[in-house]
Amino acid sequence: MNDEFYMDLALRAAWRYQALTLPNPAVGCVLLDRGGRVLGIGAHKKAGFLHAEANAVFAALCDLDANFAQDFAREYAREFGVKFQNLEALKSALLQPSFTYDFILNRHGGLLRGACAYVTLEPCAHRGRTPSCAELLAQLGLSRVVIGTRDTNAQAAGGAEILRRGGIEVKFDVCRAAATELAEPFYLAREGGFCFI
Ligand SMILES: [Zn+2]
Repeated sequence: MNDEFYMDLALRAAWRYQALTLPNPAVGCVLLDRGGRVLGIGAHKKAGFLHAEANAVFAALCDLDANFAQDFAREYAREFGVKFQNLEALKSALLQPSFTYDFILNRHGGLLRGACAYVTLEPCAHRGRTPSCAELLAQLGLSRVVIGTRDTNAQAAGGAEILRRGGIEVKFDVCRAAATELAEPFYLAREGGFCFI
């Protein structure tokens, strides 16, 4: 399997939520372990909730460590009064971002060290309603991040620099045309020209 294959998986995951993420871009992420096995696939589903990278990381950690998922569900229920029927319901839920990012950073246990991420759009650098995805991936100790297209949003750009400073190999422009097409409604909406009719 080559980089284009995995980026295509990330693009497909993102398209399921196309336009539902506005005013944010639709973004997809695929995580692989060092042996090339898919650990998690994530998409950004709705503005104000987890970004694609965090969704993929969360799904991967739930699968890799049953205690991670159980403890998360218990602490989430205590904090927000929300319970999940099963693991799939937990992995597909719209989770409160700050709580989830903090839990991931406290409890990842180095399980994603050396992993590789395919992200359709450059991971964000800024802390907005959610923490920075570039910082998250750097703290998890990934070895490589493959990016579809650059983030031209001045506020969010710069993720690649954070990754490189964290010792992560960064590769740009894999399936760039398709990744740009995915992000197009976001750019149009930002310019005020996007219309569903
Ligand atoms: Zn992000």
